[in-house]
Amino acid sequence: MALTSSIDILPLGFTDEAFLSKLSERLGTILGQPVNVLQSKTEPSHAFDSRRKQYSSTDILKEISSKRAPGSRKIIGVTDVDLYVSSLNFVFGQAHLRGQAAVISLARLRPSFYREDEDSKLLFSRTVKEAVHELGHTYGLTHCSDRGCVMSFSNSIRDVDLKRESFCESCKRRYGEILRRQSCP
Ligand SMILES: [Zn+2]
Ligand SMILES: [Zn+2]
Repeated sequence: MALTSSIDILPLGFTDEAFLSKLSERLGTILGQPVNVLQSKTEPSHAFDSRRKQYSSTDILKEISSKRAPGSRKIIGVTDVDLYVSSLNFVFGQAHLRGQAAVISLARLRPSFYREDEDSKLLFSRTVKEAVHELGHTYGLTHCSDRGCVMSFSNSIRDVDLKRESFCESCKRRYGEILRRQSCP
């Protein structure tokens, strides 16, 4: 039985095409779904909070939900600007639980943010983890207590580095169940 669903990557001011196409491939492999990169000139400027000098990920989610292509199940915005939600200093990303939209930021995934040398492999791997994590939420997966599982909550970049790019056995099972339920309503 074919499990059909699809994921769109929406560049939000972040336009490194080689990076985004590599990301779509890796996400497709991990999530077992077709992933495409949308063409977009969208900037997240509407979500800027001039007092915090950060961007509201909640506002961005609201905006990108409306950009979802017909027939596509999920959309994930990828940006370089620093994101926050009102209750936290920052977030690596945010998603609508069991919803359609997710967003991640590379701002705090870059080694240079921590005054460390740039490392494109490390940045890519961190991005994959955060993207899988937030997309996992859109499929209804909640936080996992296994620190190595991609669905564990990351409070800091060290937490991100501790986890793998993929689901633990239990999250993988749940993810498979969710997809099967979606394909036979
Ligand atoms: Zn989470
Ligand atoms: Zn897990």
